[in-house]
Amino acid sequence: MTRLWIKDPLAIFADDASGGVVVENDQIVELVPKGSKPEQPVDSIFNANNHVIVPGLINTHHHFYQTLTRAITPALGKPLFSWLQTLYPIWANLDPEMLAIATKLASVELLLSGCTTASDHHYIYPACLDRALDIQAAVIKEIGIRATLTRGSMDLSVSDGGLPPDSVVQDKDTILADCERVVETYHEPGYGAMTQVALAPCSPFSVSGKLMRETASLADRLNVRIHTHLGETQDENNYCQKRYGMRPLDYLEECGWLGSHTWLAHGIHFNSDEIKKLGHFGIGISHCPNSNMYLASGVCDARAIENSGAPLGLGVDGSSSNDSSNLVEEIRQALLLQRIGHHTTTIQHTDALRWATLGGARCLGRSDIGRIAPGLQADLALFCLDEFRHSGSHDPLAALVVCGSHRADRVMIGGVWKVRDGHVINIDTEHLIHKHNKAAKKLRQQARLES
Ligand SMILES: [Zn+2]
Repeated sequence: MTRLWIKDPLAIFADDASGGVVVENDQIVELVPKGSKPEQPVDSIFNANNHVIVPGLINTHHHFYQTLTRAITPALGKPLFSWLQTLYPIWANLDPEMLAIATKLASVELLLSGCTTASDHHYIYPACLDRALDIQAAVIKEIGIRATLTRGSMDLSVSDGGLPPDSVVQDKDTILADCERVVETYHEPGYGAMTQVALAPCSPFSVSGKLMRETASLADRLNVRIHTHLGETQDENNYCQKRYGMRPLDYLEECGWLGSHTWLAHGIHFNSDEIKKLGHFGIGISHCPNSNMYLASGVCDARAIENSGAPLGLGVDGSSSNDSSNLVEEIRQALLLQRIGHHTTTIQHTDALRWATLGGARCLGRSDIGRIAPGLQADLALFCLDEFRHSGSHDPLAALVVCGSHRADRVMIGGVWKVRDGHVINIDTEHLIHKHNKAAKKLRQQARLES
């Protein structure tokens, strides 16, 4: 048993913990009030007087594989539907090695931004990627980041009136059998889980109603969460009206998806009755500000959703609709977008920090992470305010967000340091970037975008 006192932080996003926190093995066991010492003796002390400490950040929506198609020329300047239609044929060339390297790079990028729990939504299944989640689970374990891997799916291709080409979809029975297999193989229920699995049909315009319904029943039987994209664009509203004769949330209800085990990416185009419904059922929303701005999708009403009682978390979304997997930057973007989008300065940095921590934990159905409190997992992100951008700042916690922090100095997951001095332990960053760039180039070559 080891007890570590992370002592006297510059600031900490927790109540009555100005003297720091005590970590014993994988848990936070004590908060130390200002000027006090831990009640029990400690084995070691980390002096944090140059650090702002926040709970490990929680990313609730991402597509790791998209790190391979950042800033890709043909997709620049397009709204969601045509952006997707441009990218699907490129993504159809993904292979296992590419997915592994993209998963590794995105996880490391997230870790360096203070993220301790990542969620990924992989829904591209060309024939060679039928074991996509197994590939991701192995990489996540190697990196040691906590994760909810979602088994994505698409079964509605262009030939059936959907958006994606035939080359990236699977049939319903194959999908459901694999969903059951990966939950049984990788899902860890309960306190302190490092890998969890959720089921995630992609969207109303790429998934059949049958698959939506049967996924919900399967998740119920396996006791895992369900996730999808919803309320992202006006085009999606139009598609649902035309194909199903109703709005997206009504369609979701018809598919048996309304419940507290559901979280949705985006949640932009909901009216006030629909937001009430989200609160009534406790349906989580992953707000993805950078992606929403990049694709000009609209502005989610984060405060109204949170006030309705629904969990509200943040997501960096796919790297090619954000071009970054940096969660601490997403906190600042959430604050700024919510202020301009709803014409109010009353949304504070502490609101955006809460979304990226406690709100994210609620989206992922976890009560053991997301706060700095005794009994919770010791997932912590520590930031220094030593760059030009922070110089002269007054309130350290506000400076972390509004001055634009972008890299954690230290990150701890389950009591283990994963990032020290701004570097992920045991990762050769240059080599990783080199291999990732090579994989991205191969993907572009296969799509005949370069020779
Ligand atoms: Zn997405």
